[in-house]
Amino acid sequence: MPTLQRASLLTALRAIQLTSGYLRPNAVAEVAERCGVSESYAYGVASFYSLLDLEPKGRFVVRVCDSVSCHLGGSNAILEQANAVLGIRAGETTADGMFTIETVSCLGACGAGPAAMVNDRLYTRLDAGKFAALLDALKAGCVPSADGELSWETARSLGDARLIGDPSLNATLPDLAPEEILSAVEMAGLRGRGGAAFPVSRKWRLCAEAPGDVKYIICNADEGEPGTFKDRYLLTEHADLVIGGMALAARAVGASKGYIYLRGEYTDAEDAIRQYLGGTDGCPLDIEIALGAGAYVCGEETALLESIEGRRGVPRLRPPYPPVSGVFGCPTIINNVETFANVPLIIANGPQWYAEAGTTESPGTKLFSVSGDVTRPGIIEAPFGTPLLDVLKEAGAVELKAALVGGASGRIVPPEDFGRRLCYGGLSPGAGAIIAIGKDRSLRDLATNLMTFFEHESCGECAPCRIGTARAREILAGEQASKEGLSAALQSLGETLANVSRCGLGQTAPGALFDMLRLFPEEFEG
Ligand code: SF4
Repeated sequence: MPTLQRASLLTALRAIQLTSGYLRPNAVAEVAERCGVSESYAYGVASFYSLLDLEPKGRFVVRVCDSVSCHLGGSNAILEQANAVLGIRAGETTADGMFTIETVSCLGACGAGPAAMVNDRLYTRLDAGKFAALLDALKAGCVPSADGELSWETARSLGDARLIGDPSLNATLPDLAPEEILSAVEMAGLRGRGGAAFPVSRKWRLCAEAPGDVKYIICNADEGEPGTFKDRYLLTEHADLVIGGMALAARAVGASKGYIYLRGEYTDAEDAIRQYLGGTDGCPLDIEIALGAGAYVCGEETALLESIEGRRGVPRLRPPYPPVSGVFGCPTIINNVETFANVPLIIANGPQWYAEAGTTESPGTKLFSVSGDVTRPGIIEAPFGTPLLDVLKEAGAVELKAALVGGASGRIVPPEDFGRRLCYGGLSPGAGAIIAIGKDRSLRDLATNLMTFFEHESCGECAPCRIGTARAREILAGEQASKEGLSAALQSLGETLANVSRCGLGQTAPGALFDMLRLFPEEFEG
């Protein structure tokens, strides 16, 4: 029996799940032994990730997305229909062992919701008729072909396009010296696209200067922010750009090993990426795909490192920062998919070309994932500095109460502020999710949905986040009374979450709620 490294634990557990349907106790024990960890450690890891099952499930596991965009699209009605037809609620399995119904935080199909996965197949734009036909086919033992209509053909741009369409990358990367790459990225003013907007060249220089013979490049492709699906577009349509960017980063900092940490649900993207691995001439990088297993918090870079190392995805305390001490204690670059995709275009066309679009502080363009109450959802590329209103109009939004910019961890923008420009230093776009909220929507209902998401995705390491998200959700849902009044109780809980939580998940969880309480207090009375 071959022995494995601890870092292989998650991969090994996923493999068992794939072949056996769930993680039988004897299989977990065997994997634990092979990876040189205790059985309790392996259980600790297995129980952390929502795509790993420690109990048997139905032959067909129907995972209905209930994140914010699918919620606006009618996911509750799909769940009620499943309940009526199958006689089970979310989390339950039919007596004959055919069906399990579950809710899932986000499937990355926000522009084509409501969406559901059956085992590993994605179904989008569900309505009563389509879902009934799907259940009928499953009852007959037939799993219809996935119809993941993710509308990539409707991806479009406002103004200068950089990433939409057919950005051609010469498969042979130019043979540039590290300093030439670093200077080009610096002159272009490229900033990280994962939400934090950290200057890319500064991060790369830190890593380049860090001592150590072994350095890593990691592409954060764990796109889990509700409302965000632009990385899925880039990975399926332009994986060559992403891998090319990683290769250039490797040359700039002297790395030879890379990981693409990919959401476990993005099976389509995995297929696309594999076509390019090893196919870029001059690529100095040995790239491995590390599949996630359903944990939003692993989008946080240090939680991602833990996951790659075969641990529960609990964020690390910083410093040290990854460019100095990242995966396996080695200097590591972690950038978002869109960040890497821009690099080959900067190198090929020059930093001046890149910076012609956008603003001085935010050069270039940004991909926005637009969903919610719009008639033309999808990916829209626009230069930084484009007013939010222009993006909303392009997506066919009318009569909105507000927009949620930046996804679940983003902020609520009222119509009077739709003229604000999307850029760092202006209206920060976060990772690029824009969710339109129609004028008749209940913001309390939306806030409950968001807090349910954070409660589910909290890693549980620190009490303010673990307990605070649950209490906020209970108060919003009317399950728990508060003496001080609804708004005051939510405000107080939110401040604790924002100020005392250990990582960005808890710190940003109440952001949209604060805005709703301030801008629409009448919806939170009583
Ligand atoms: Fe975990 Fe939440 Fe604490 Fe972050 S803030 S470490 S997600 S419990």
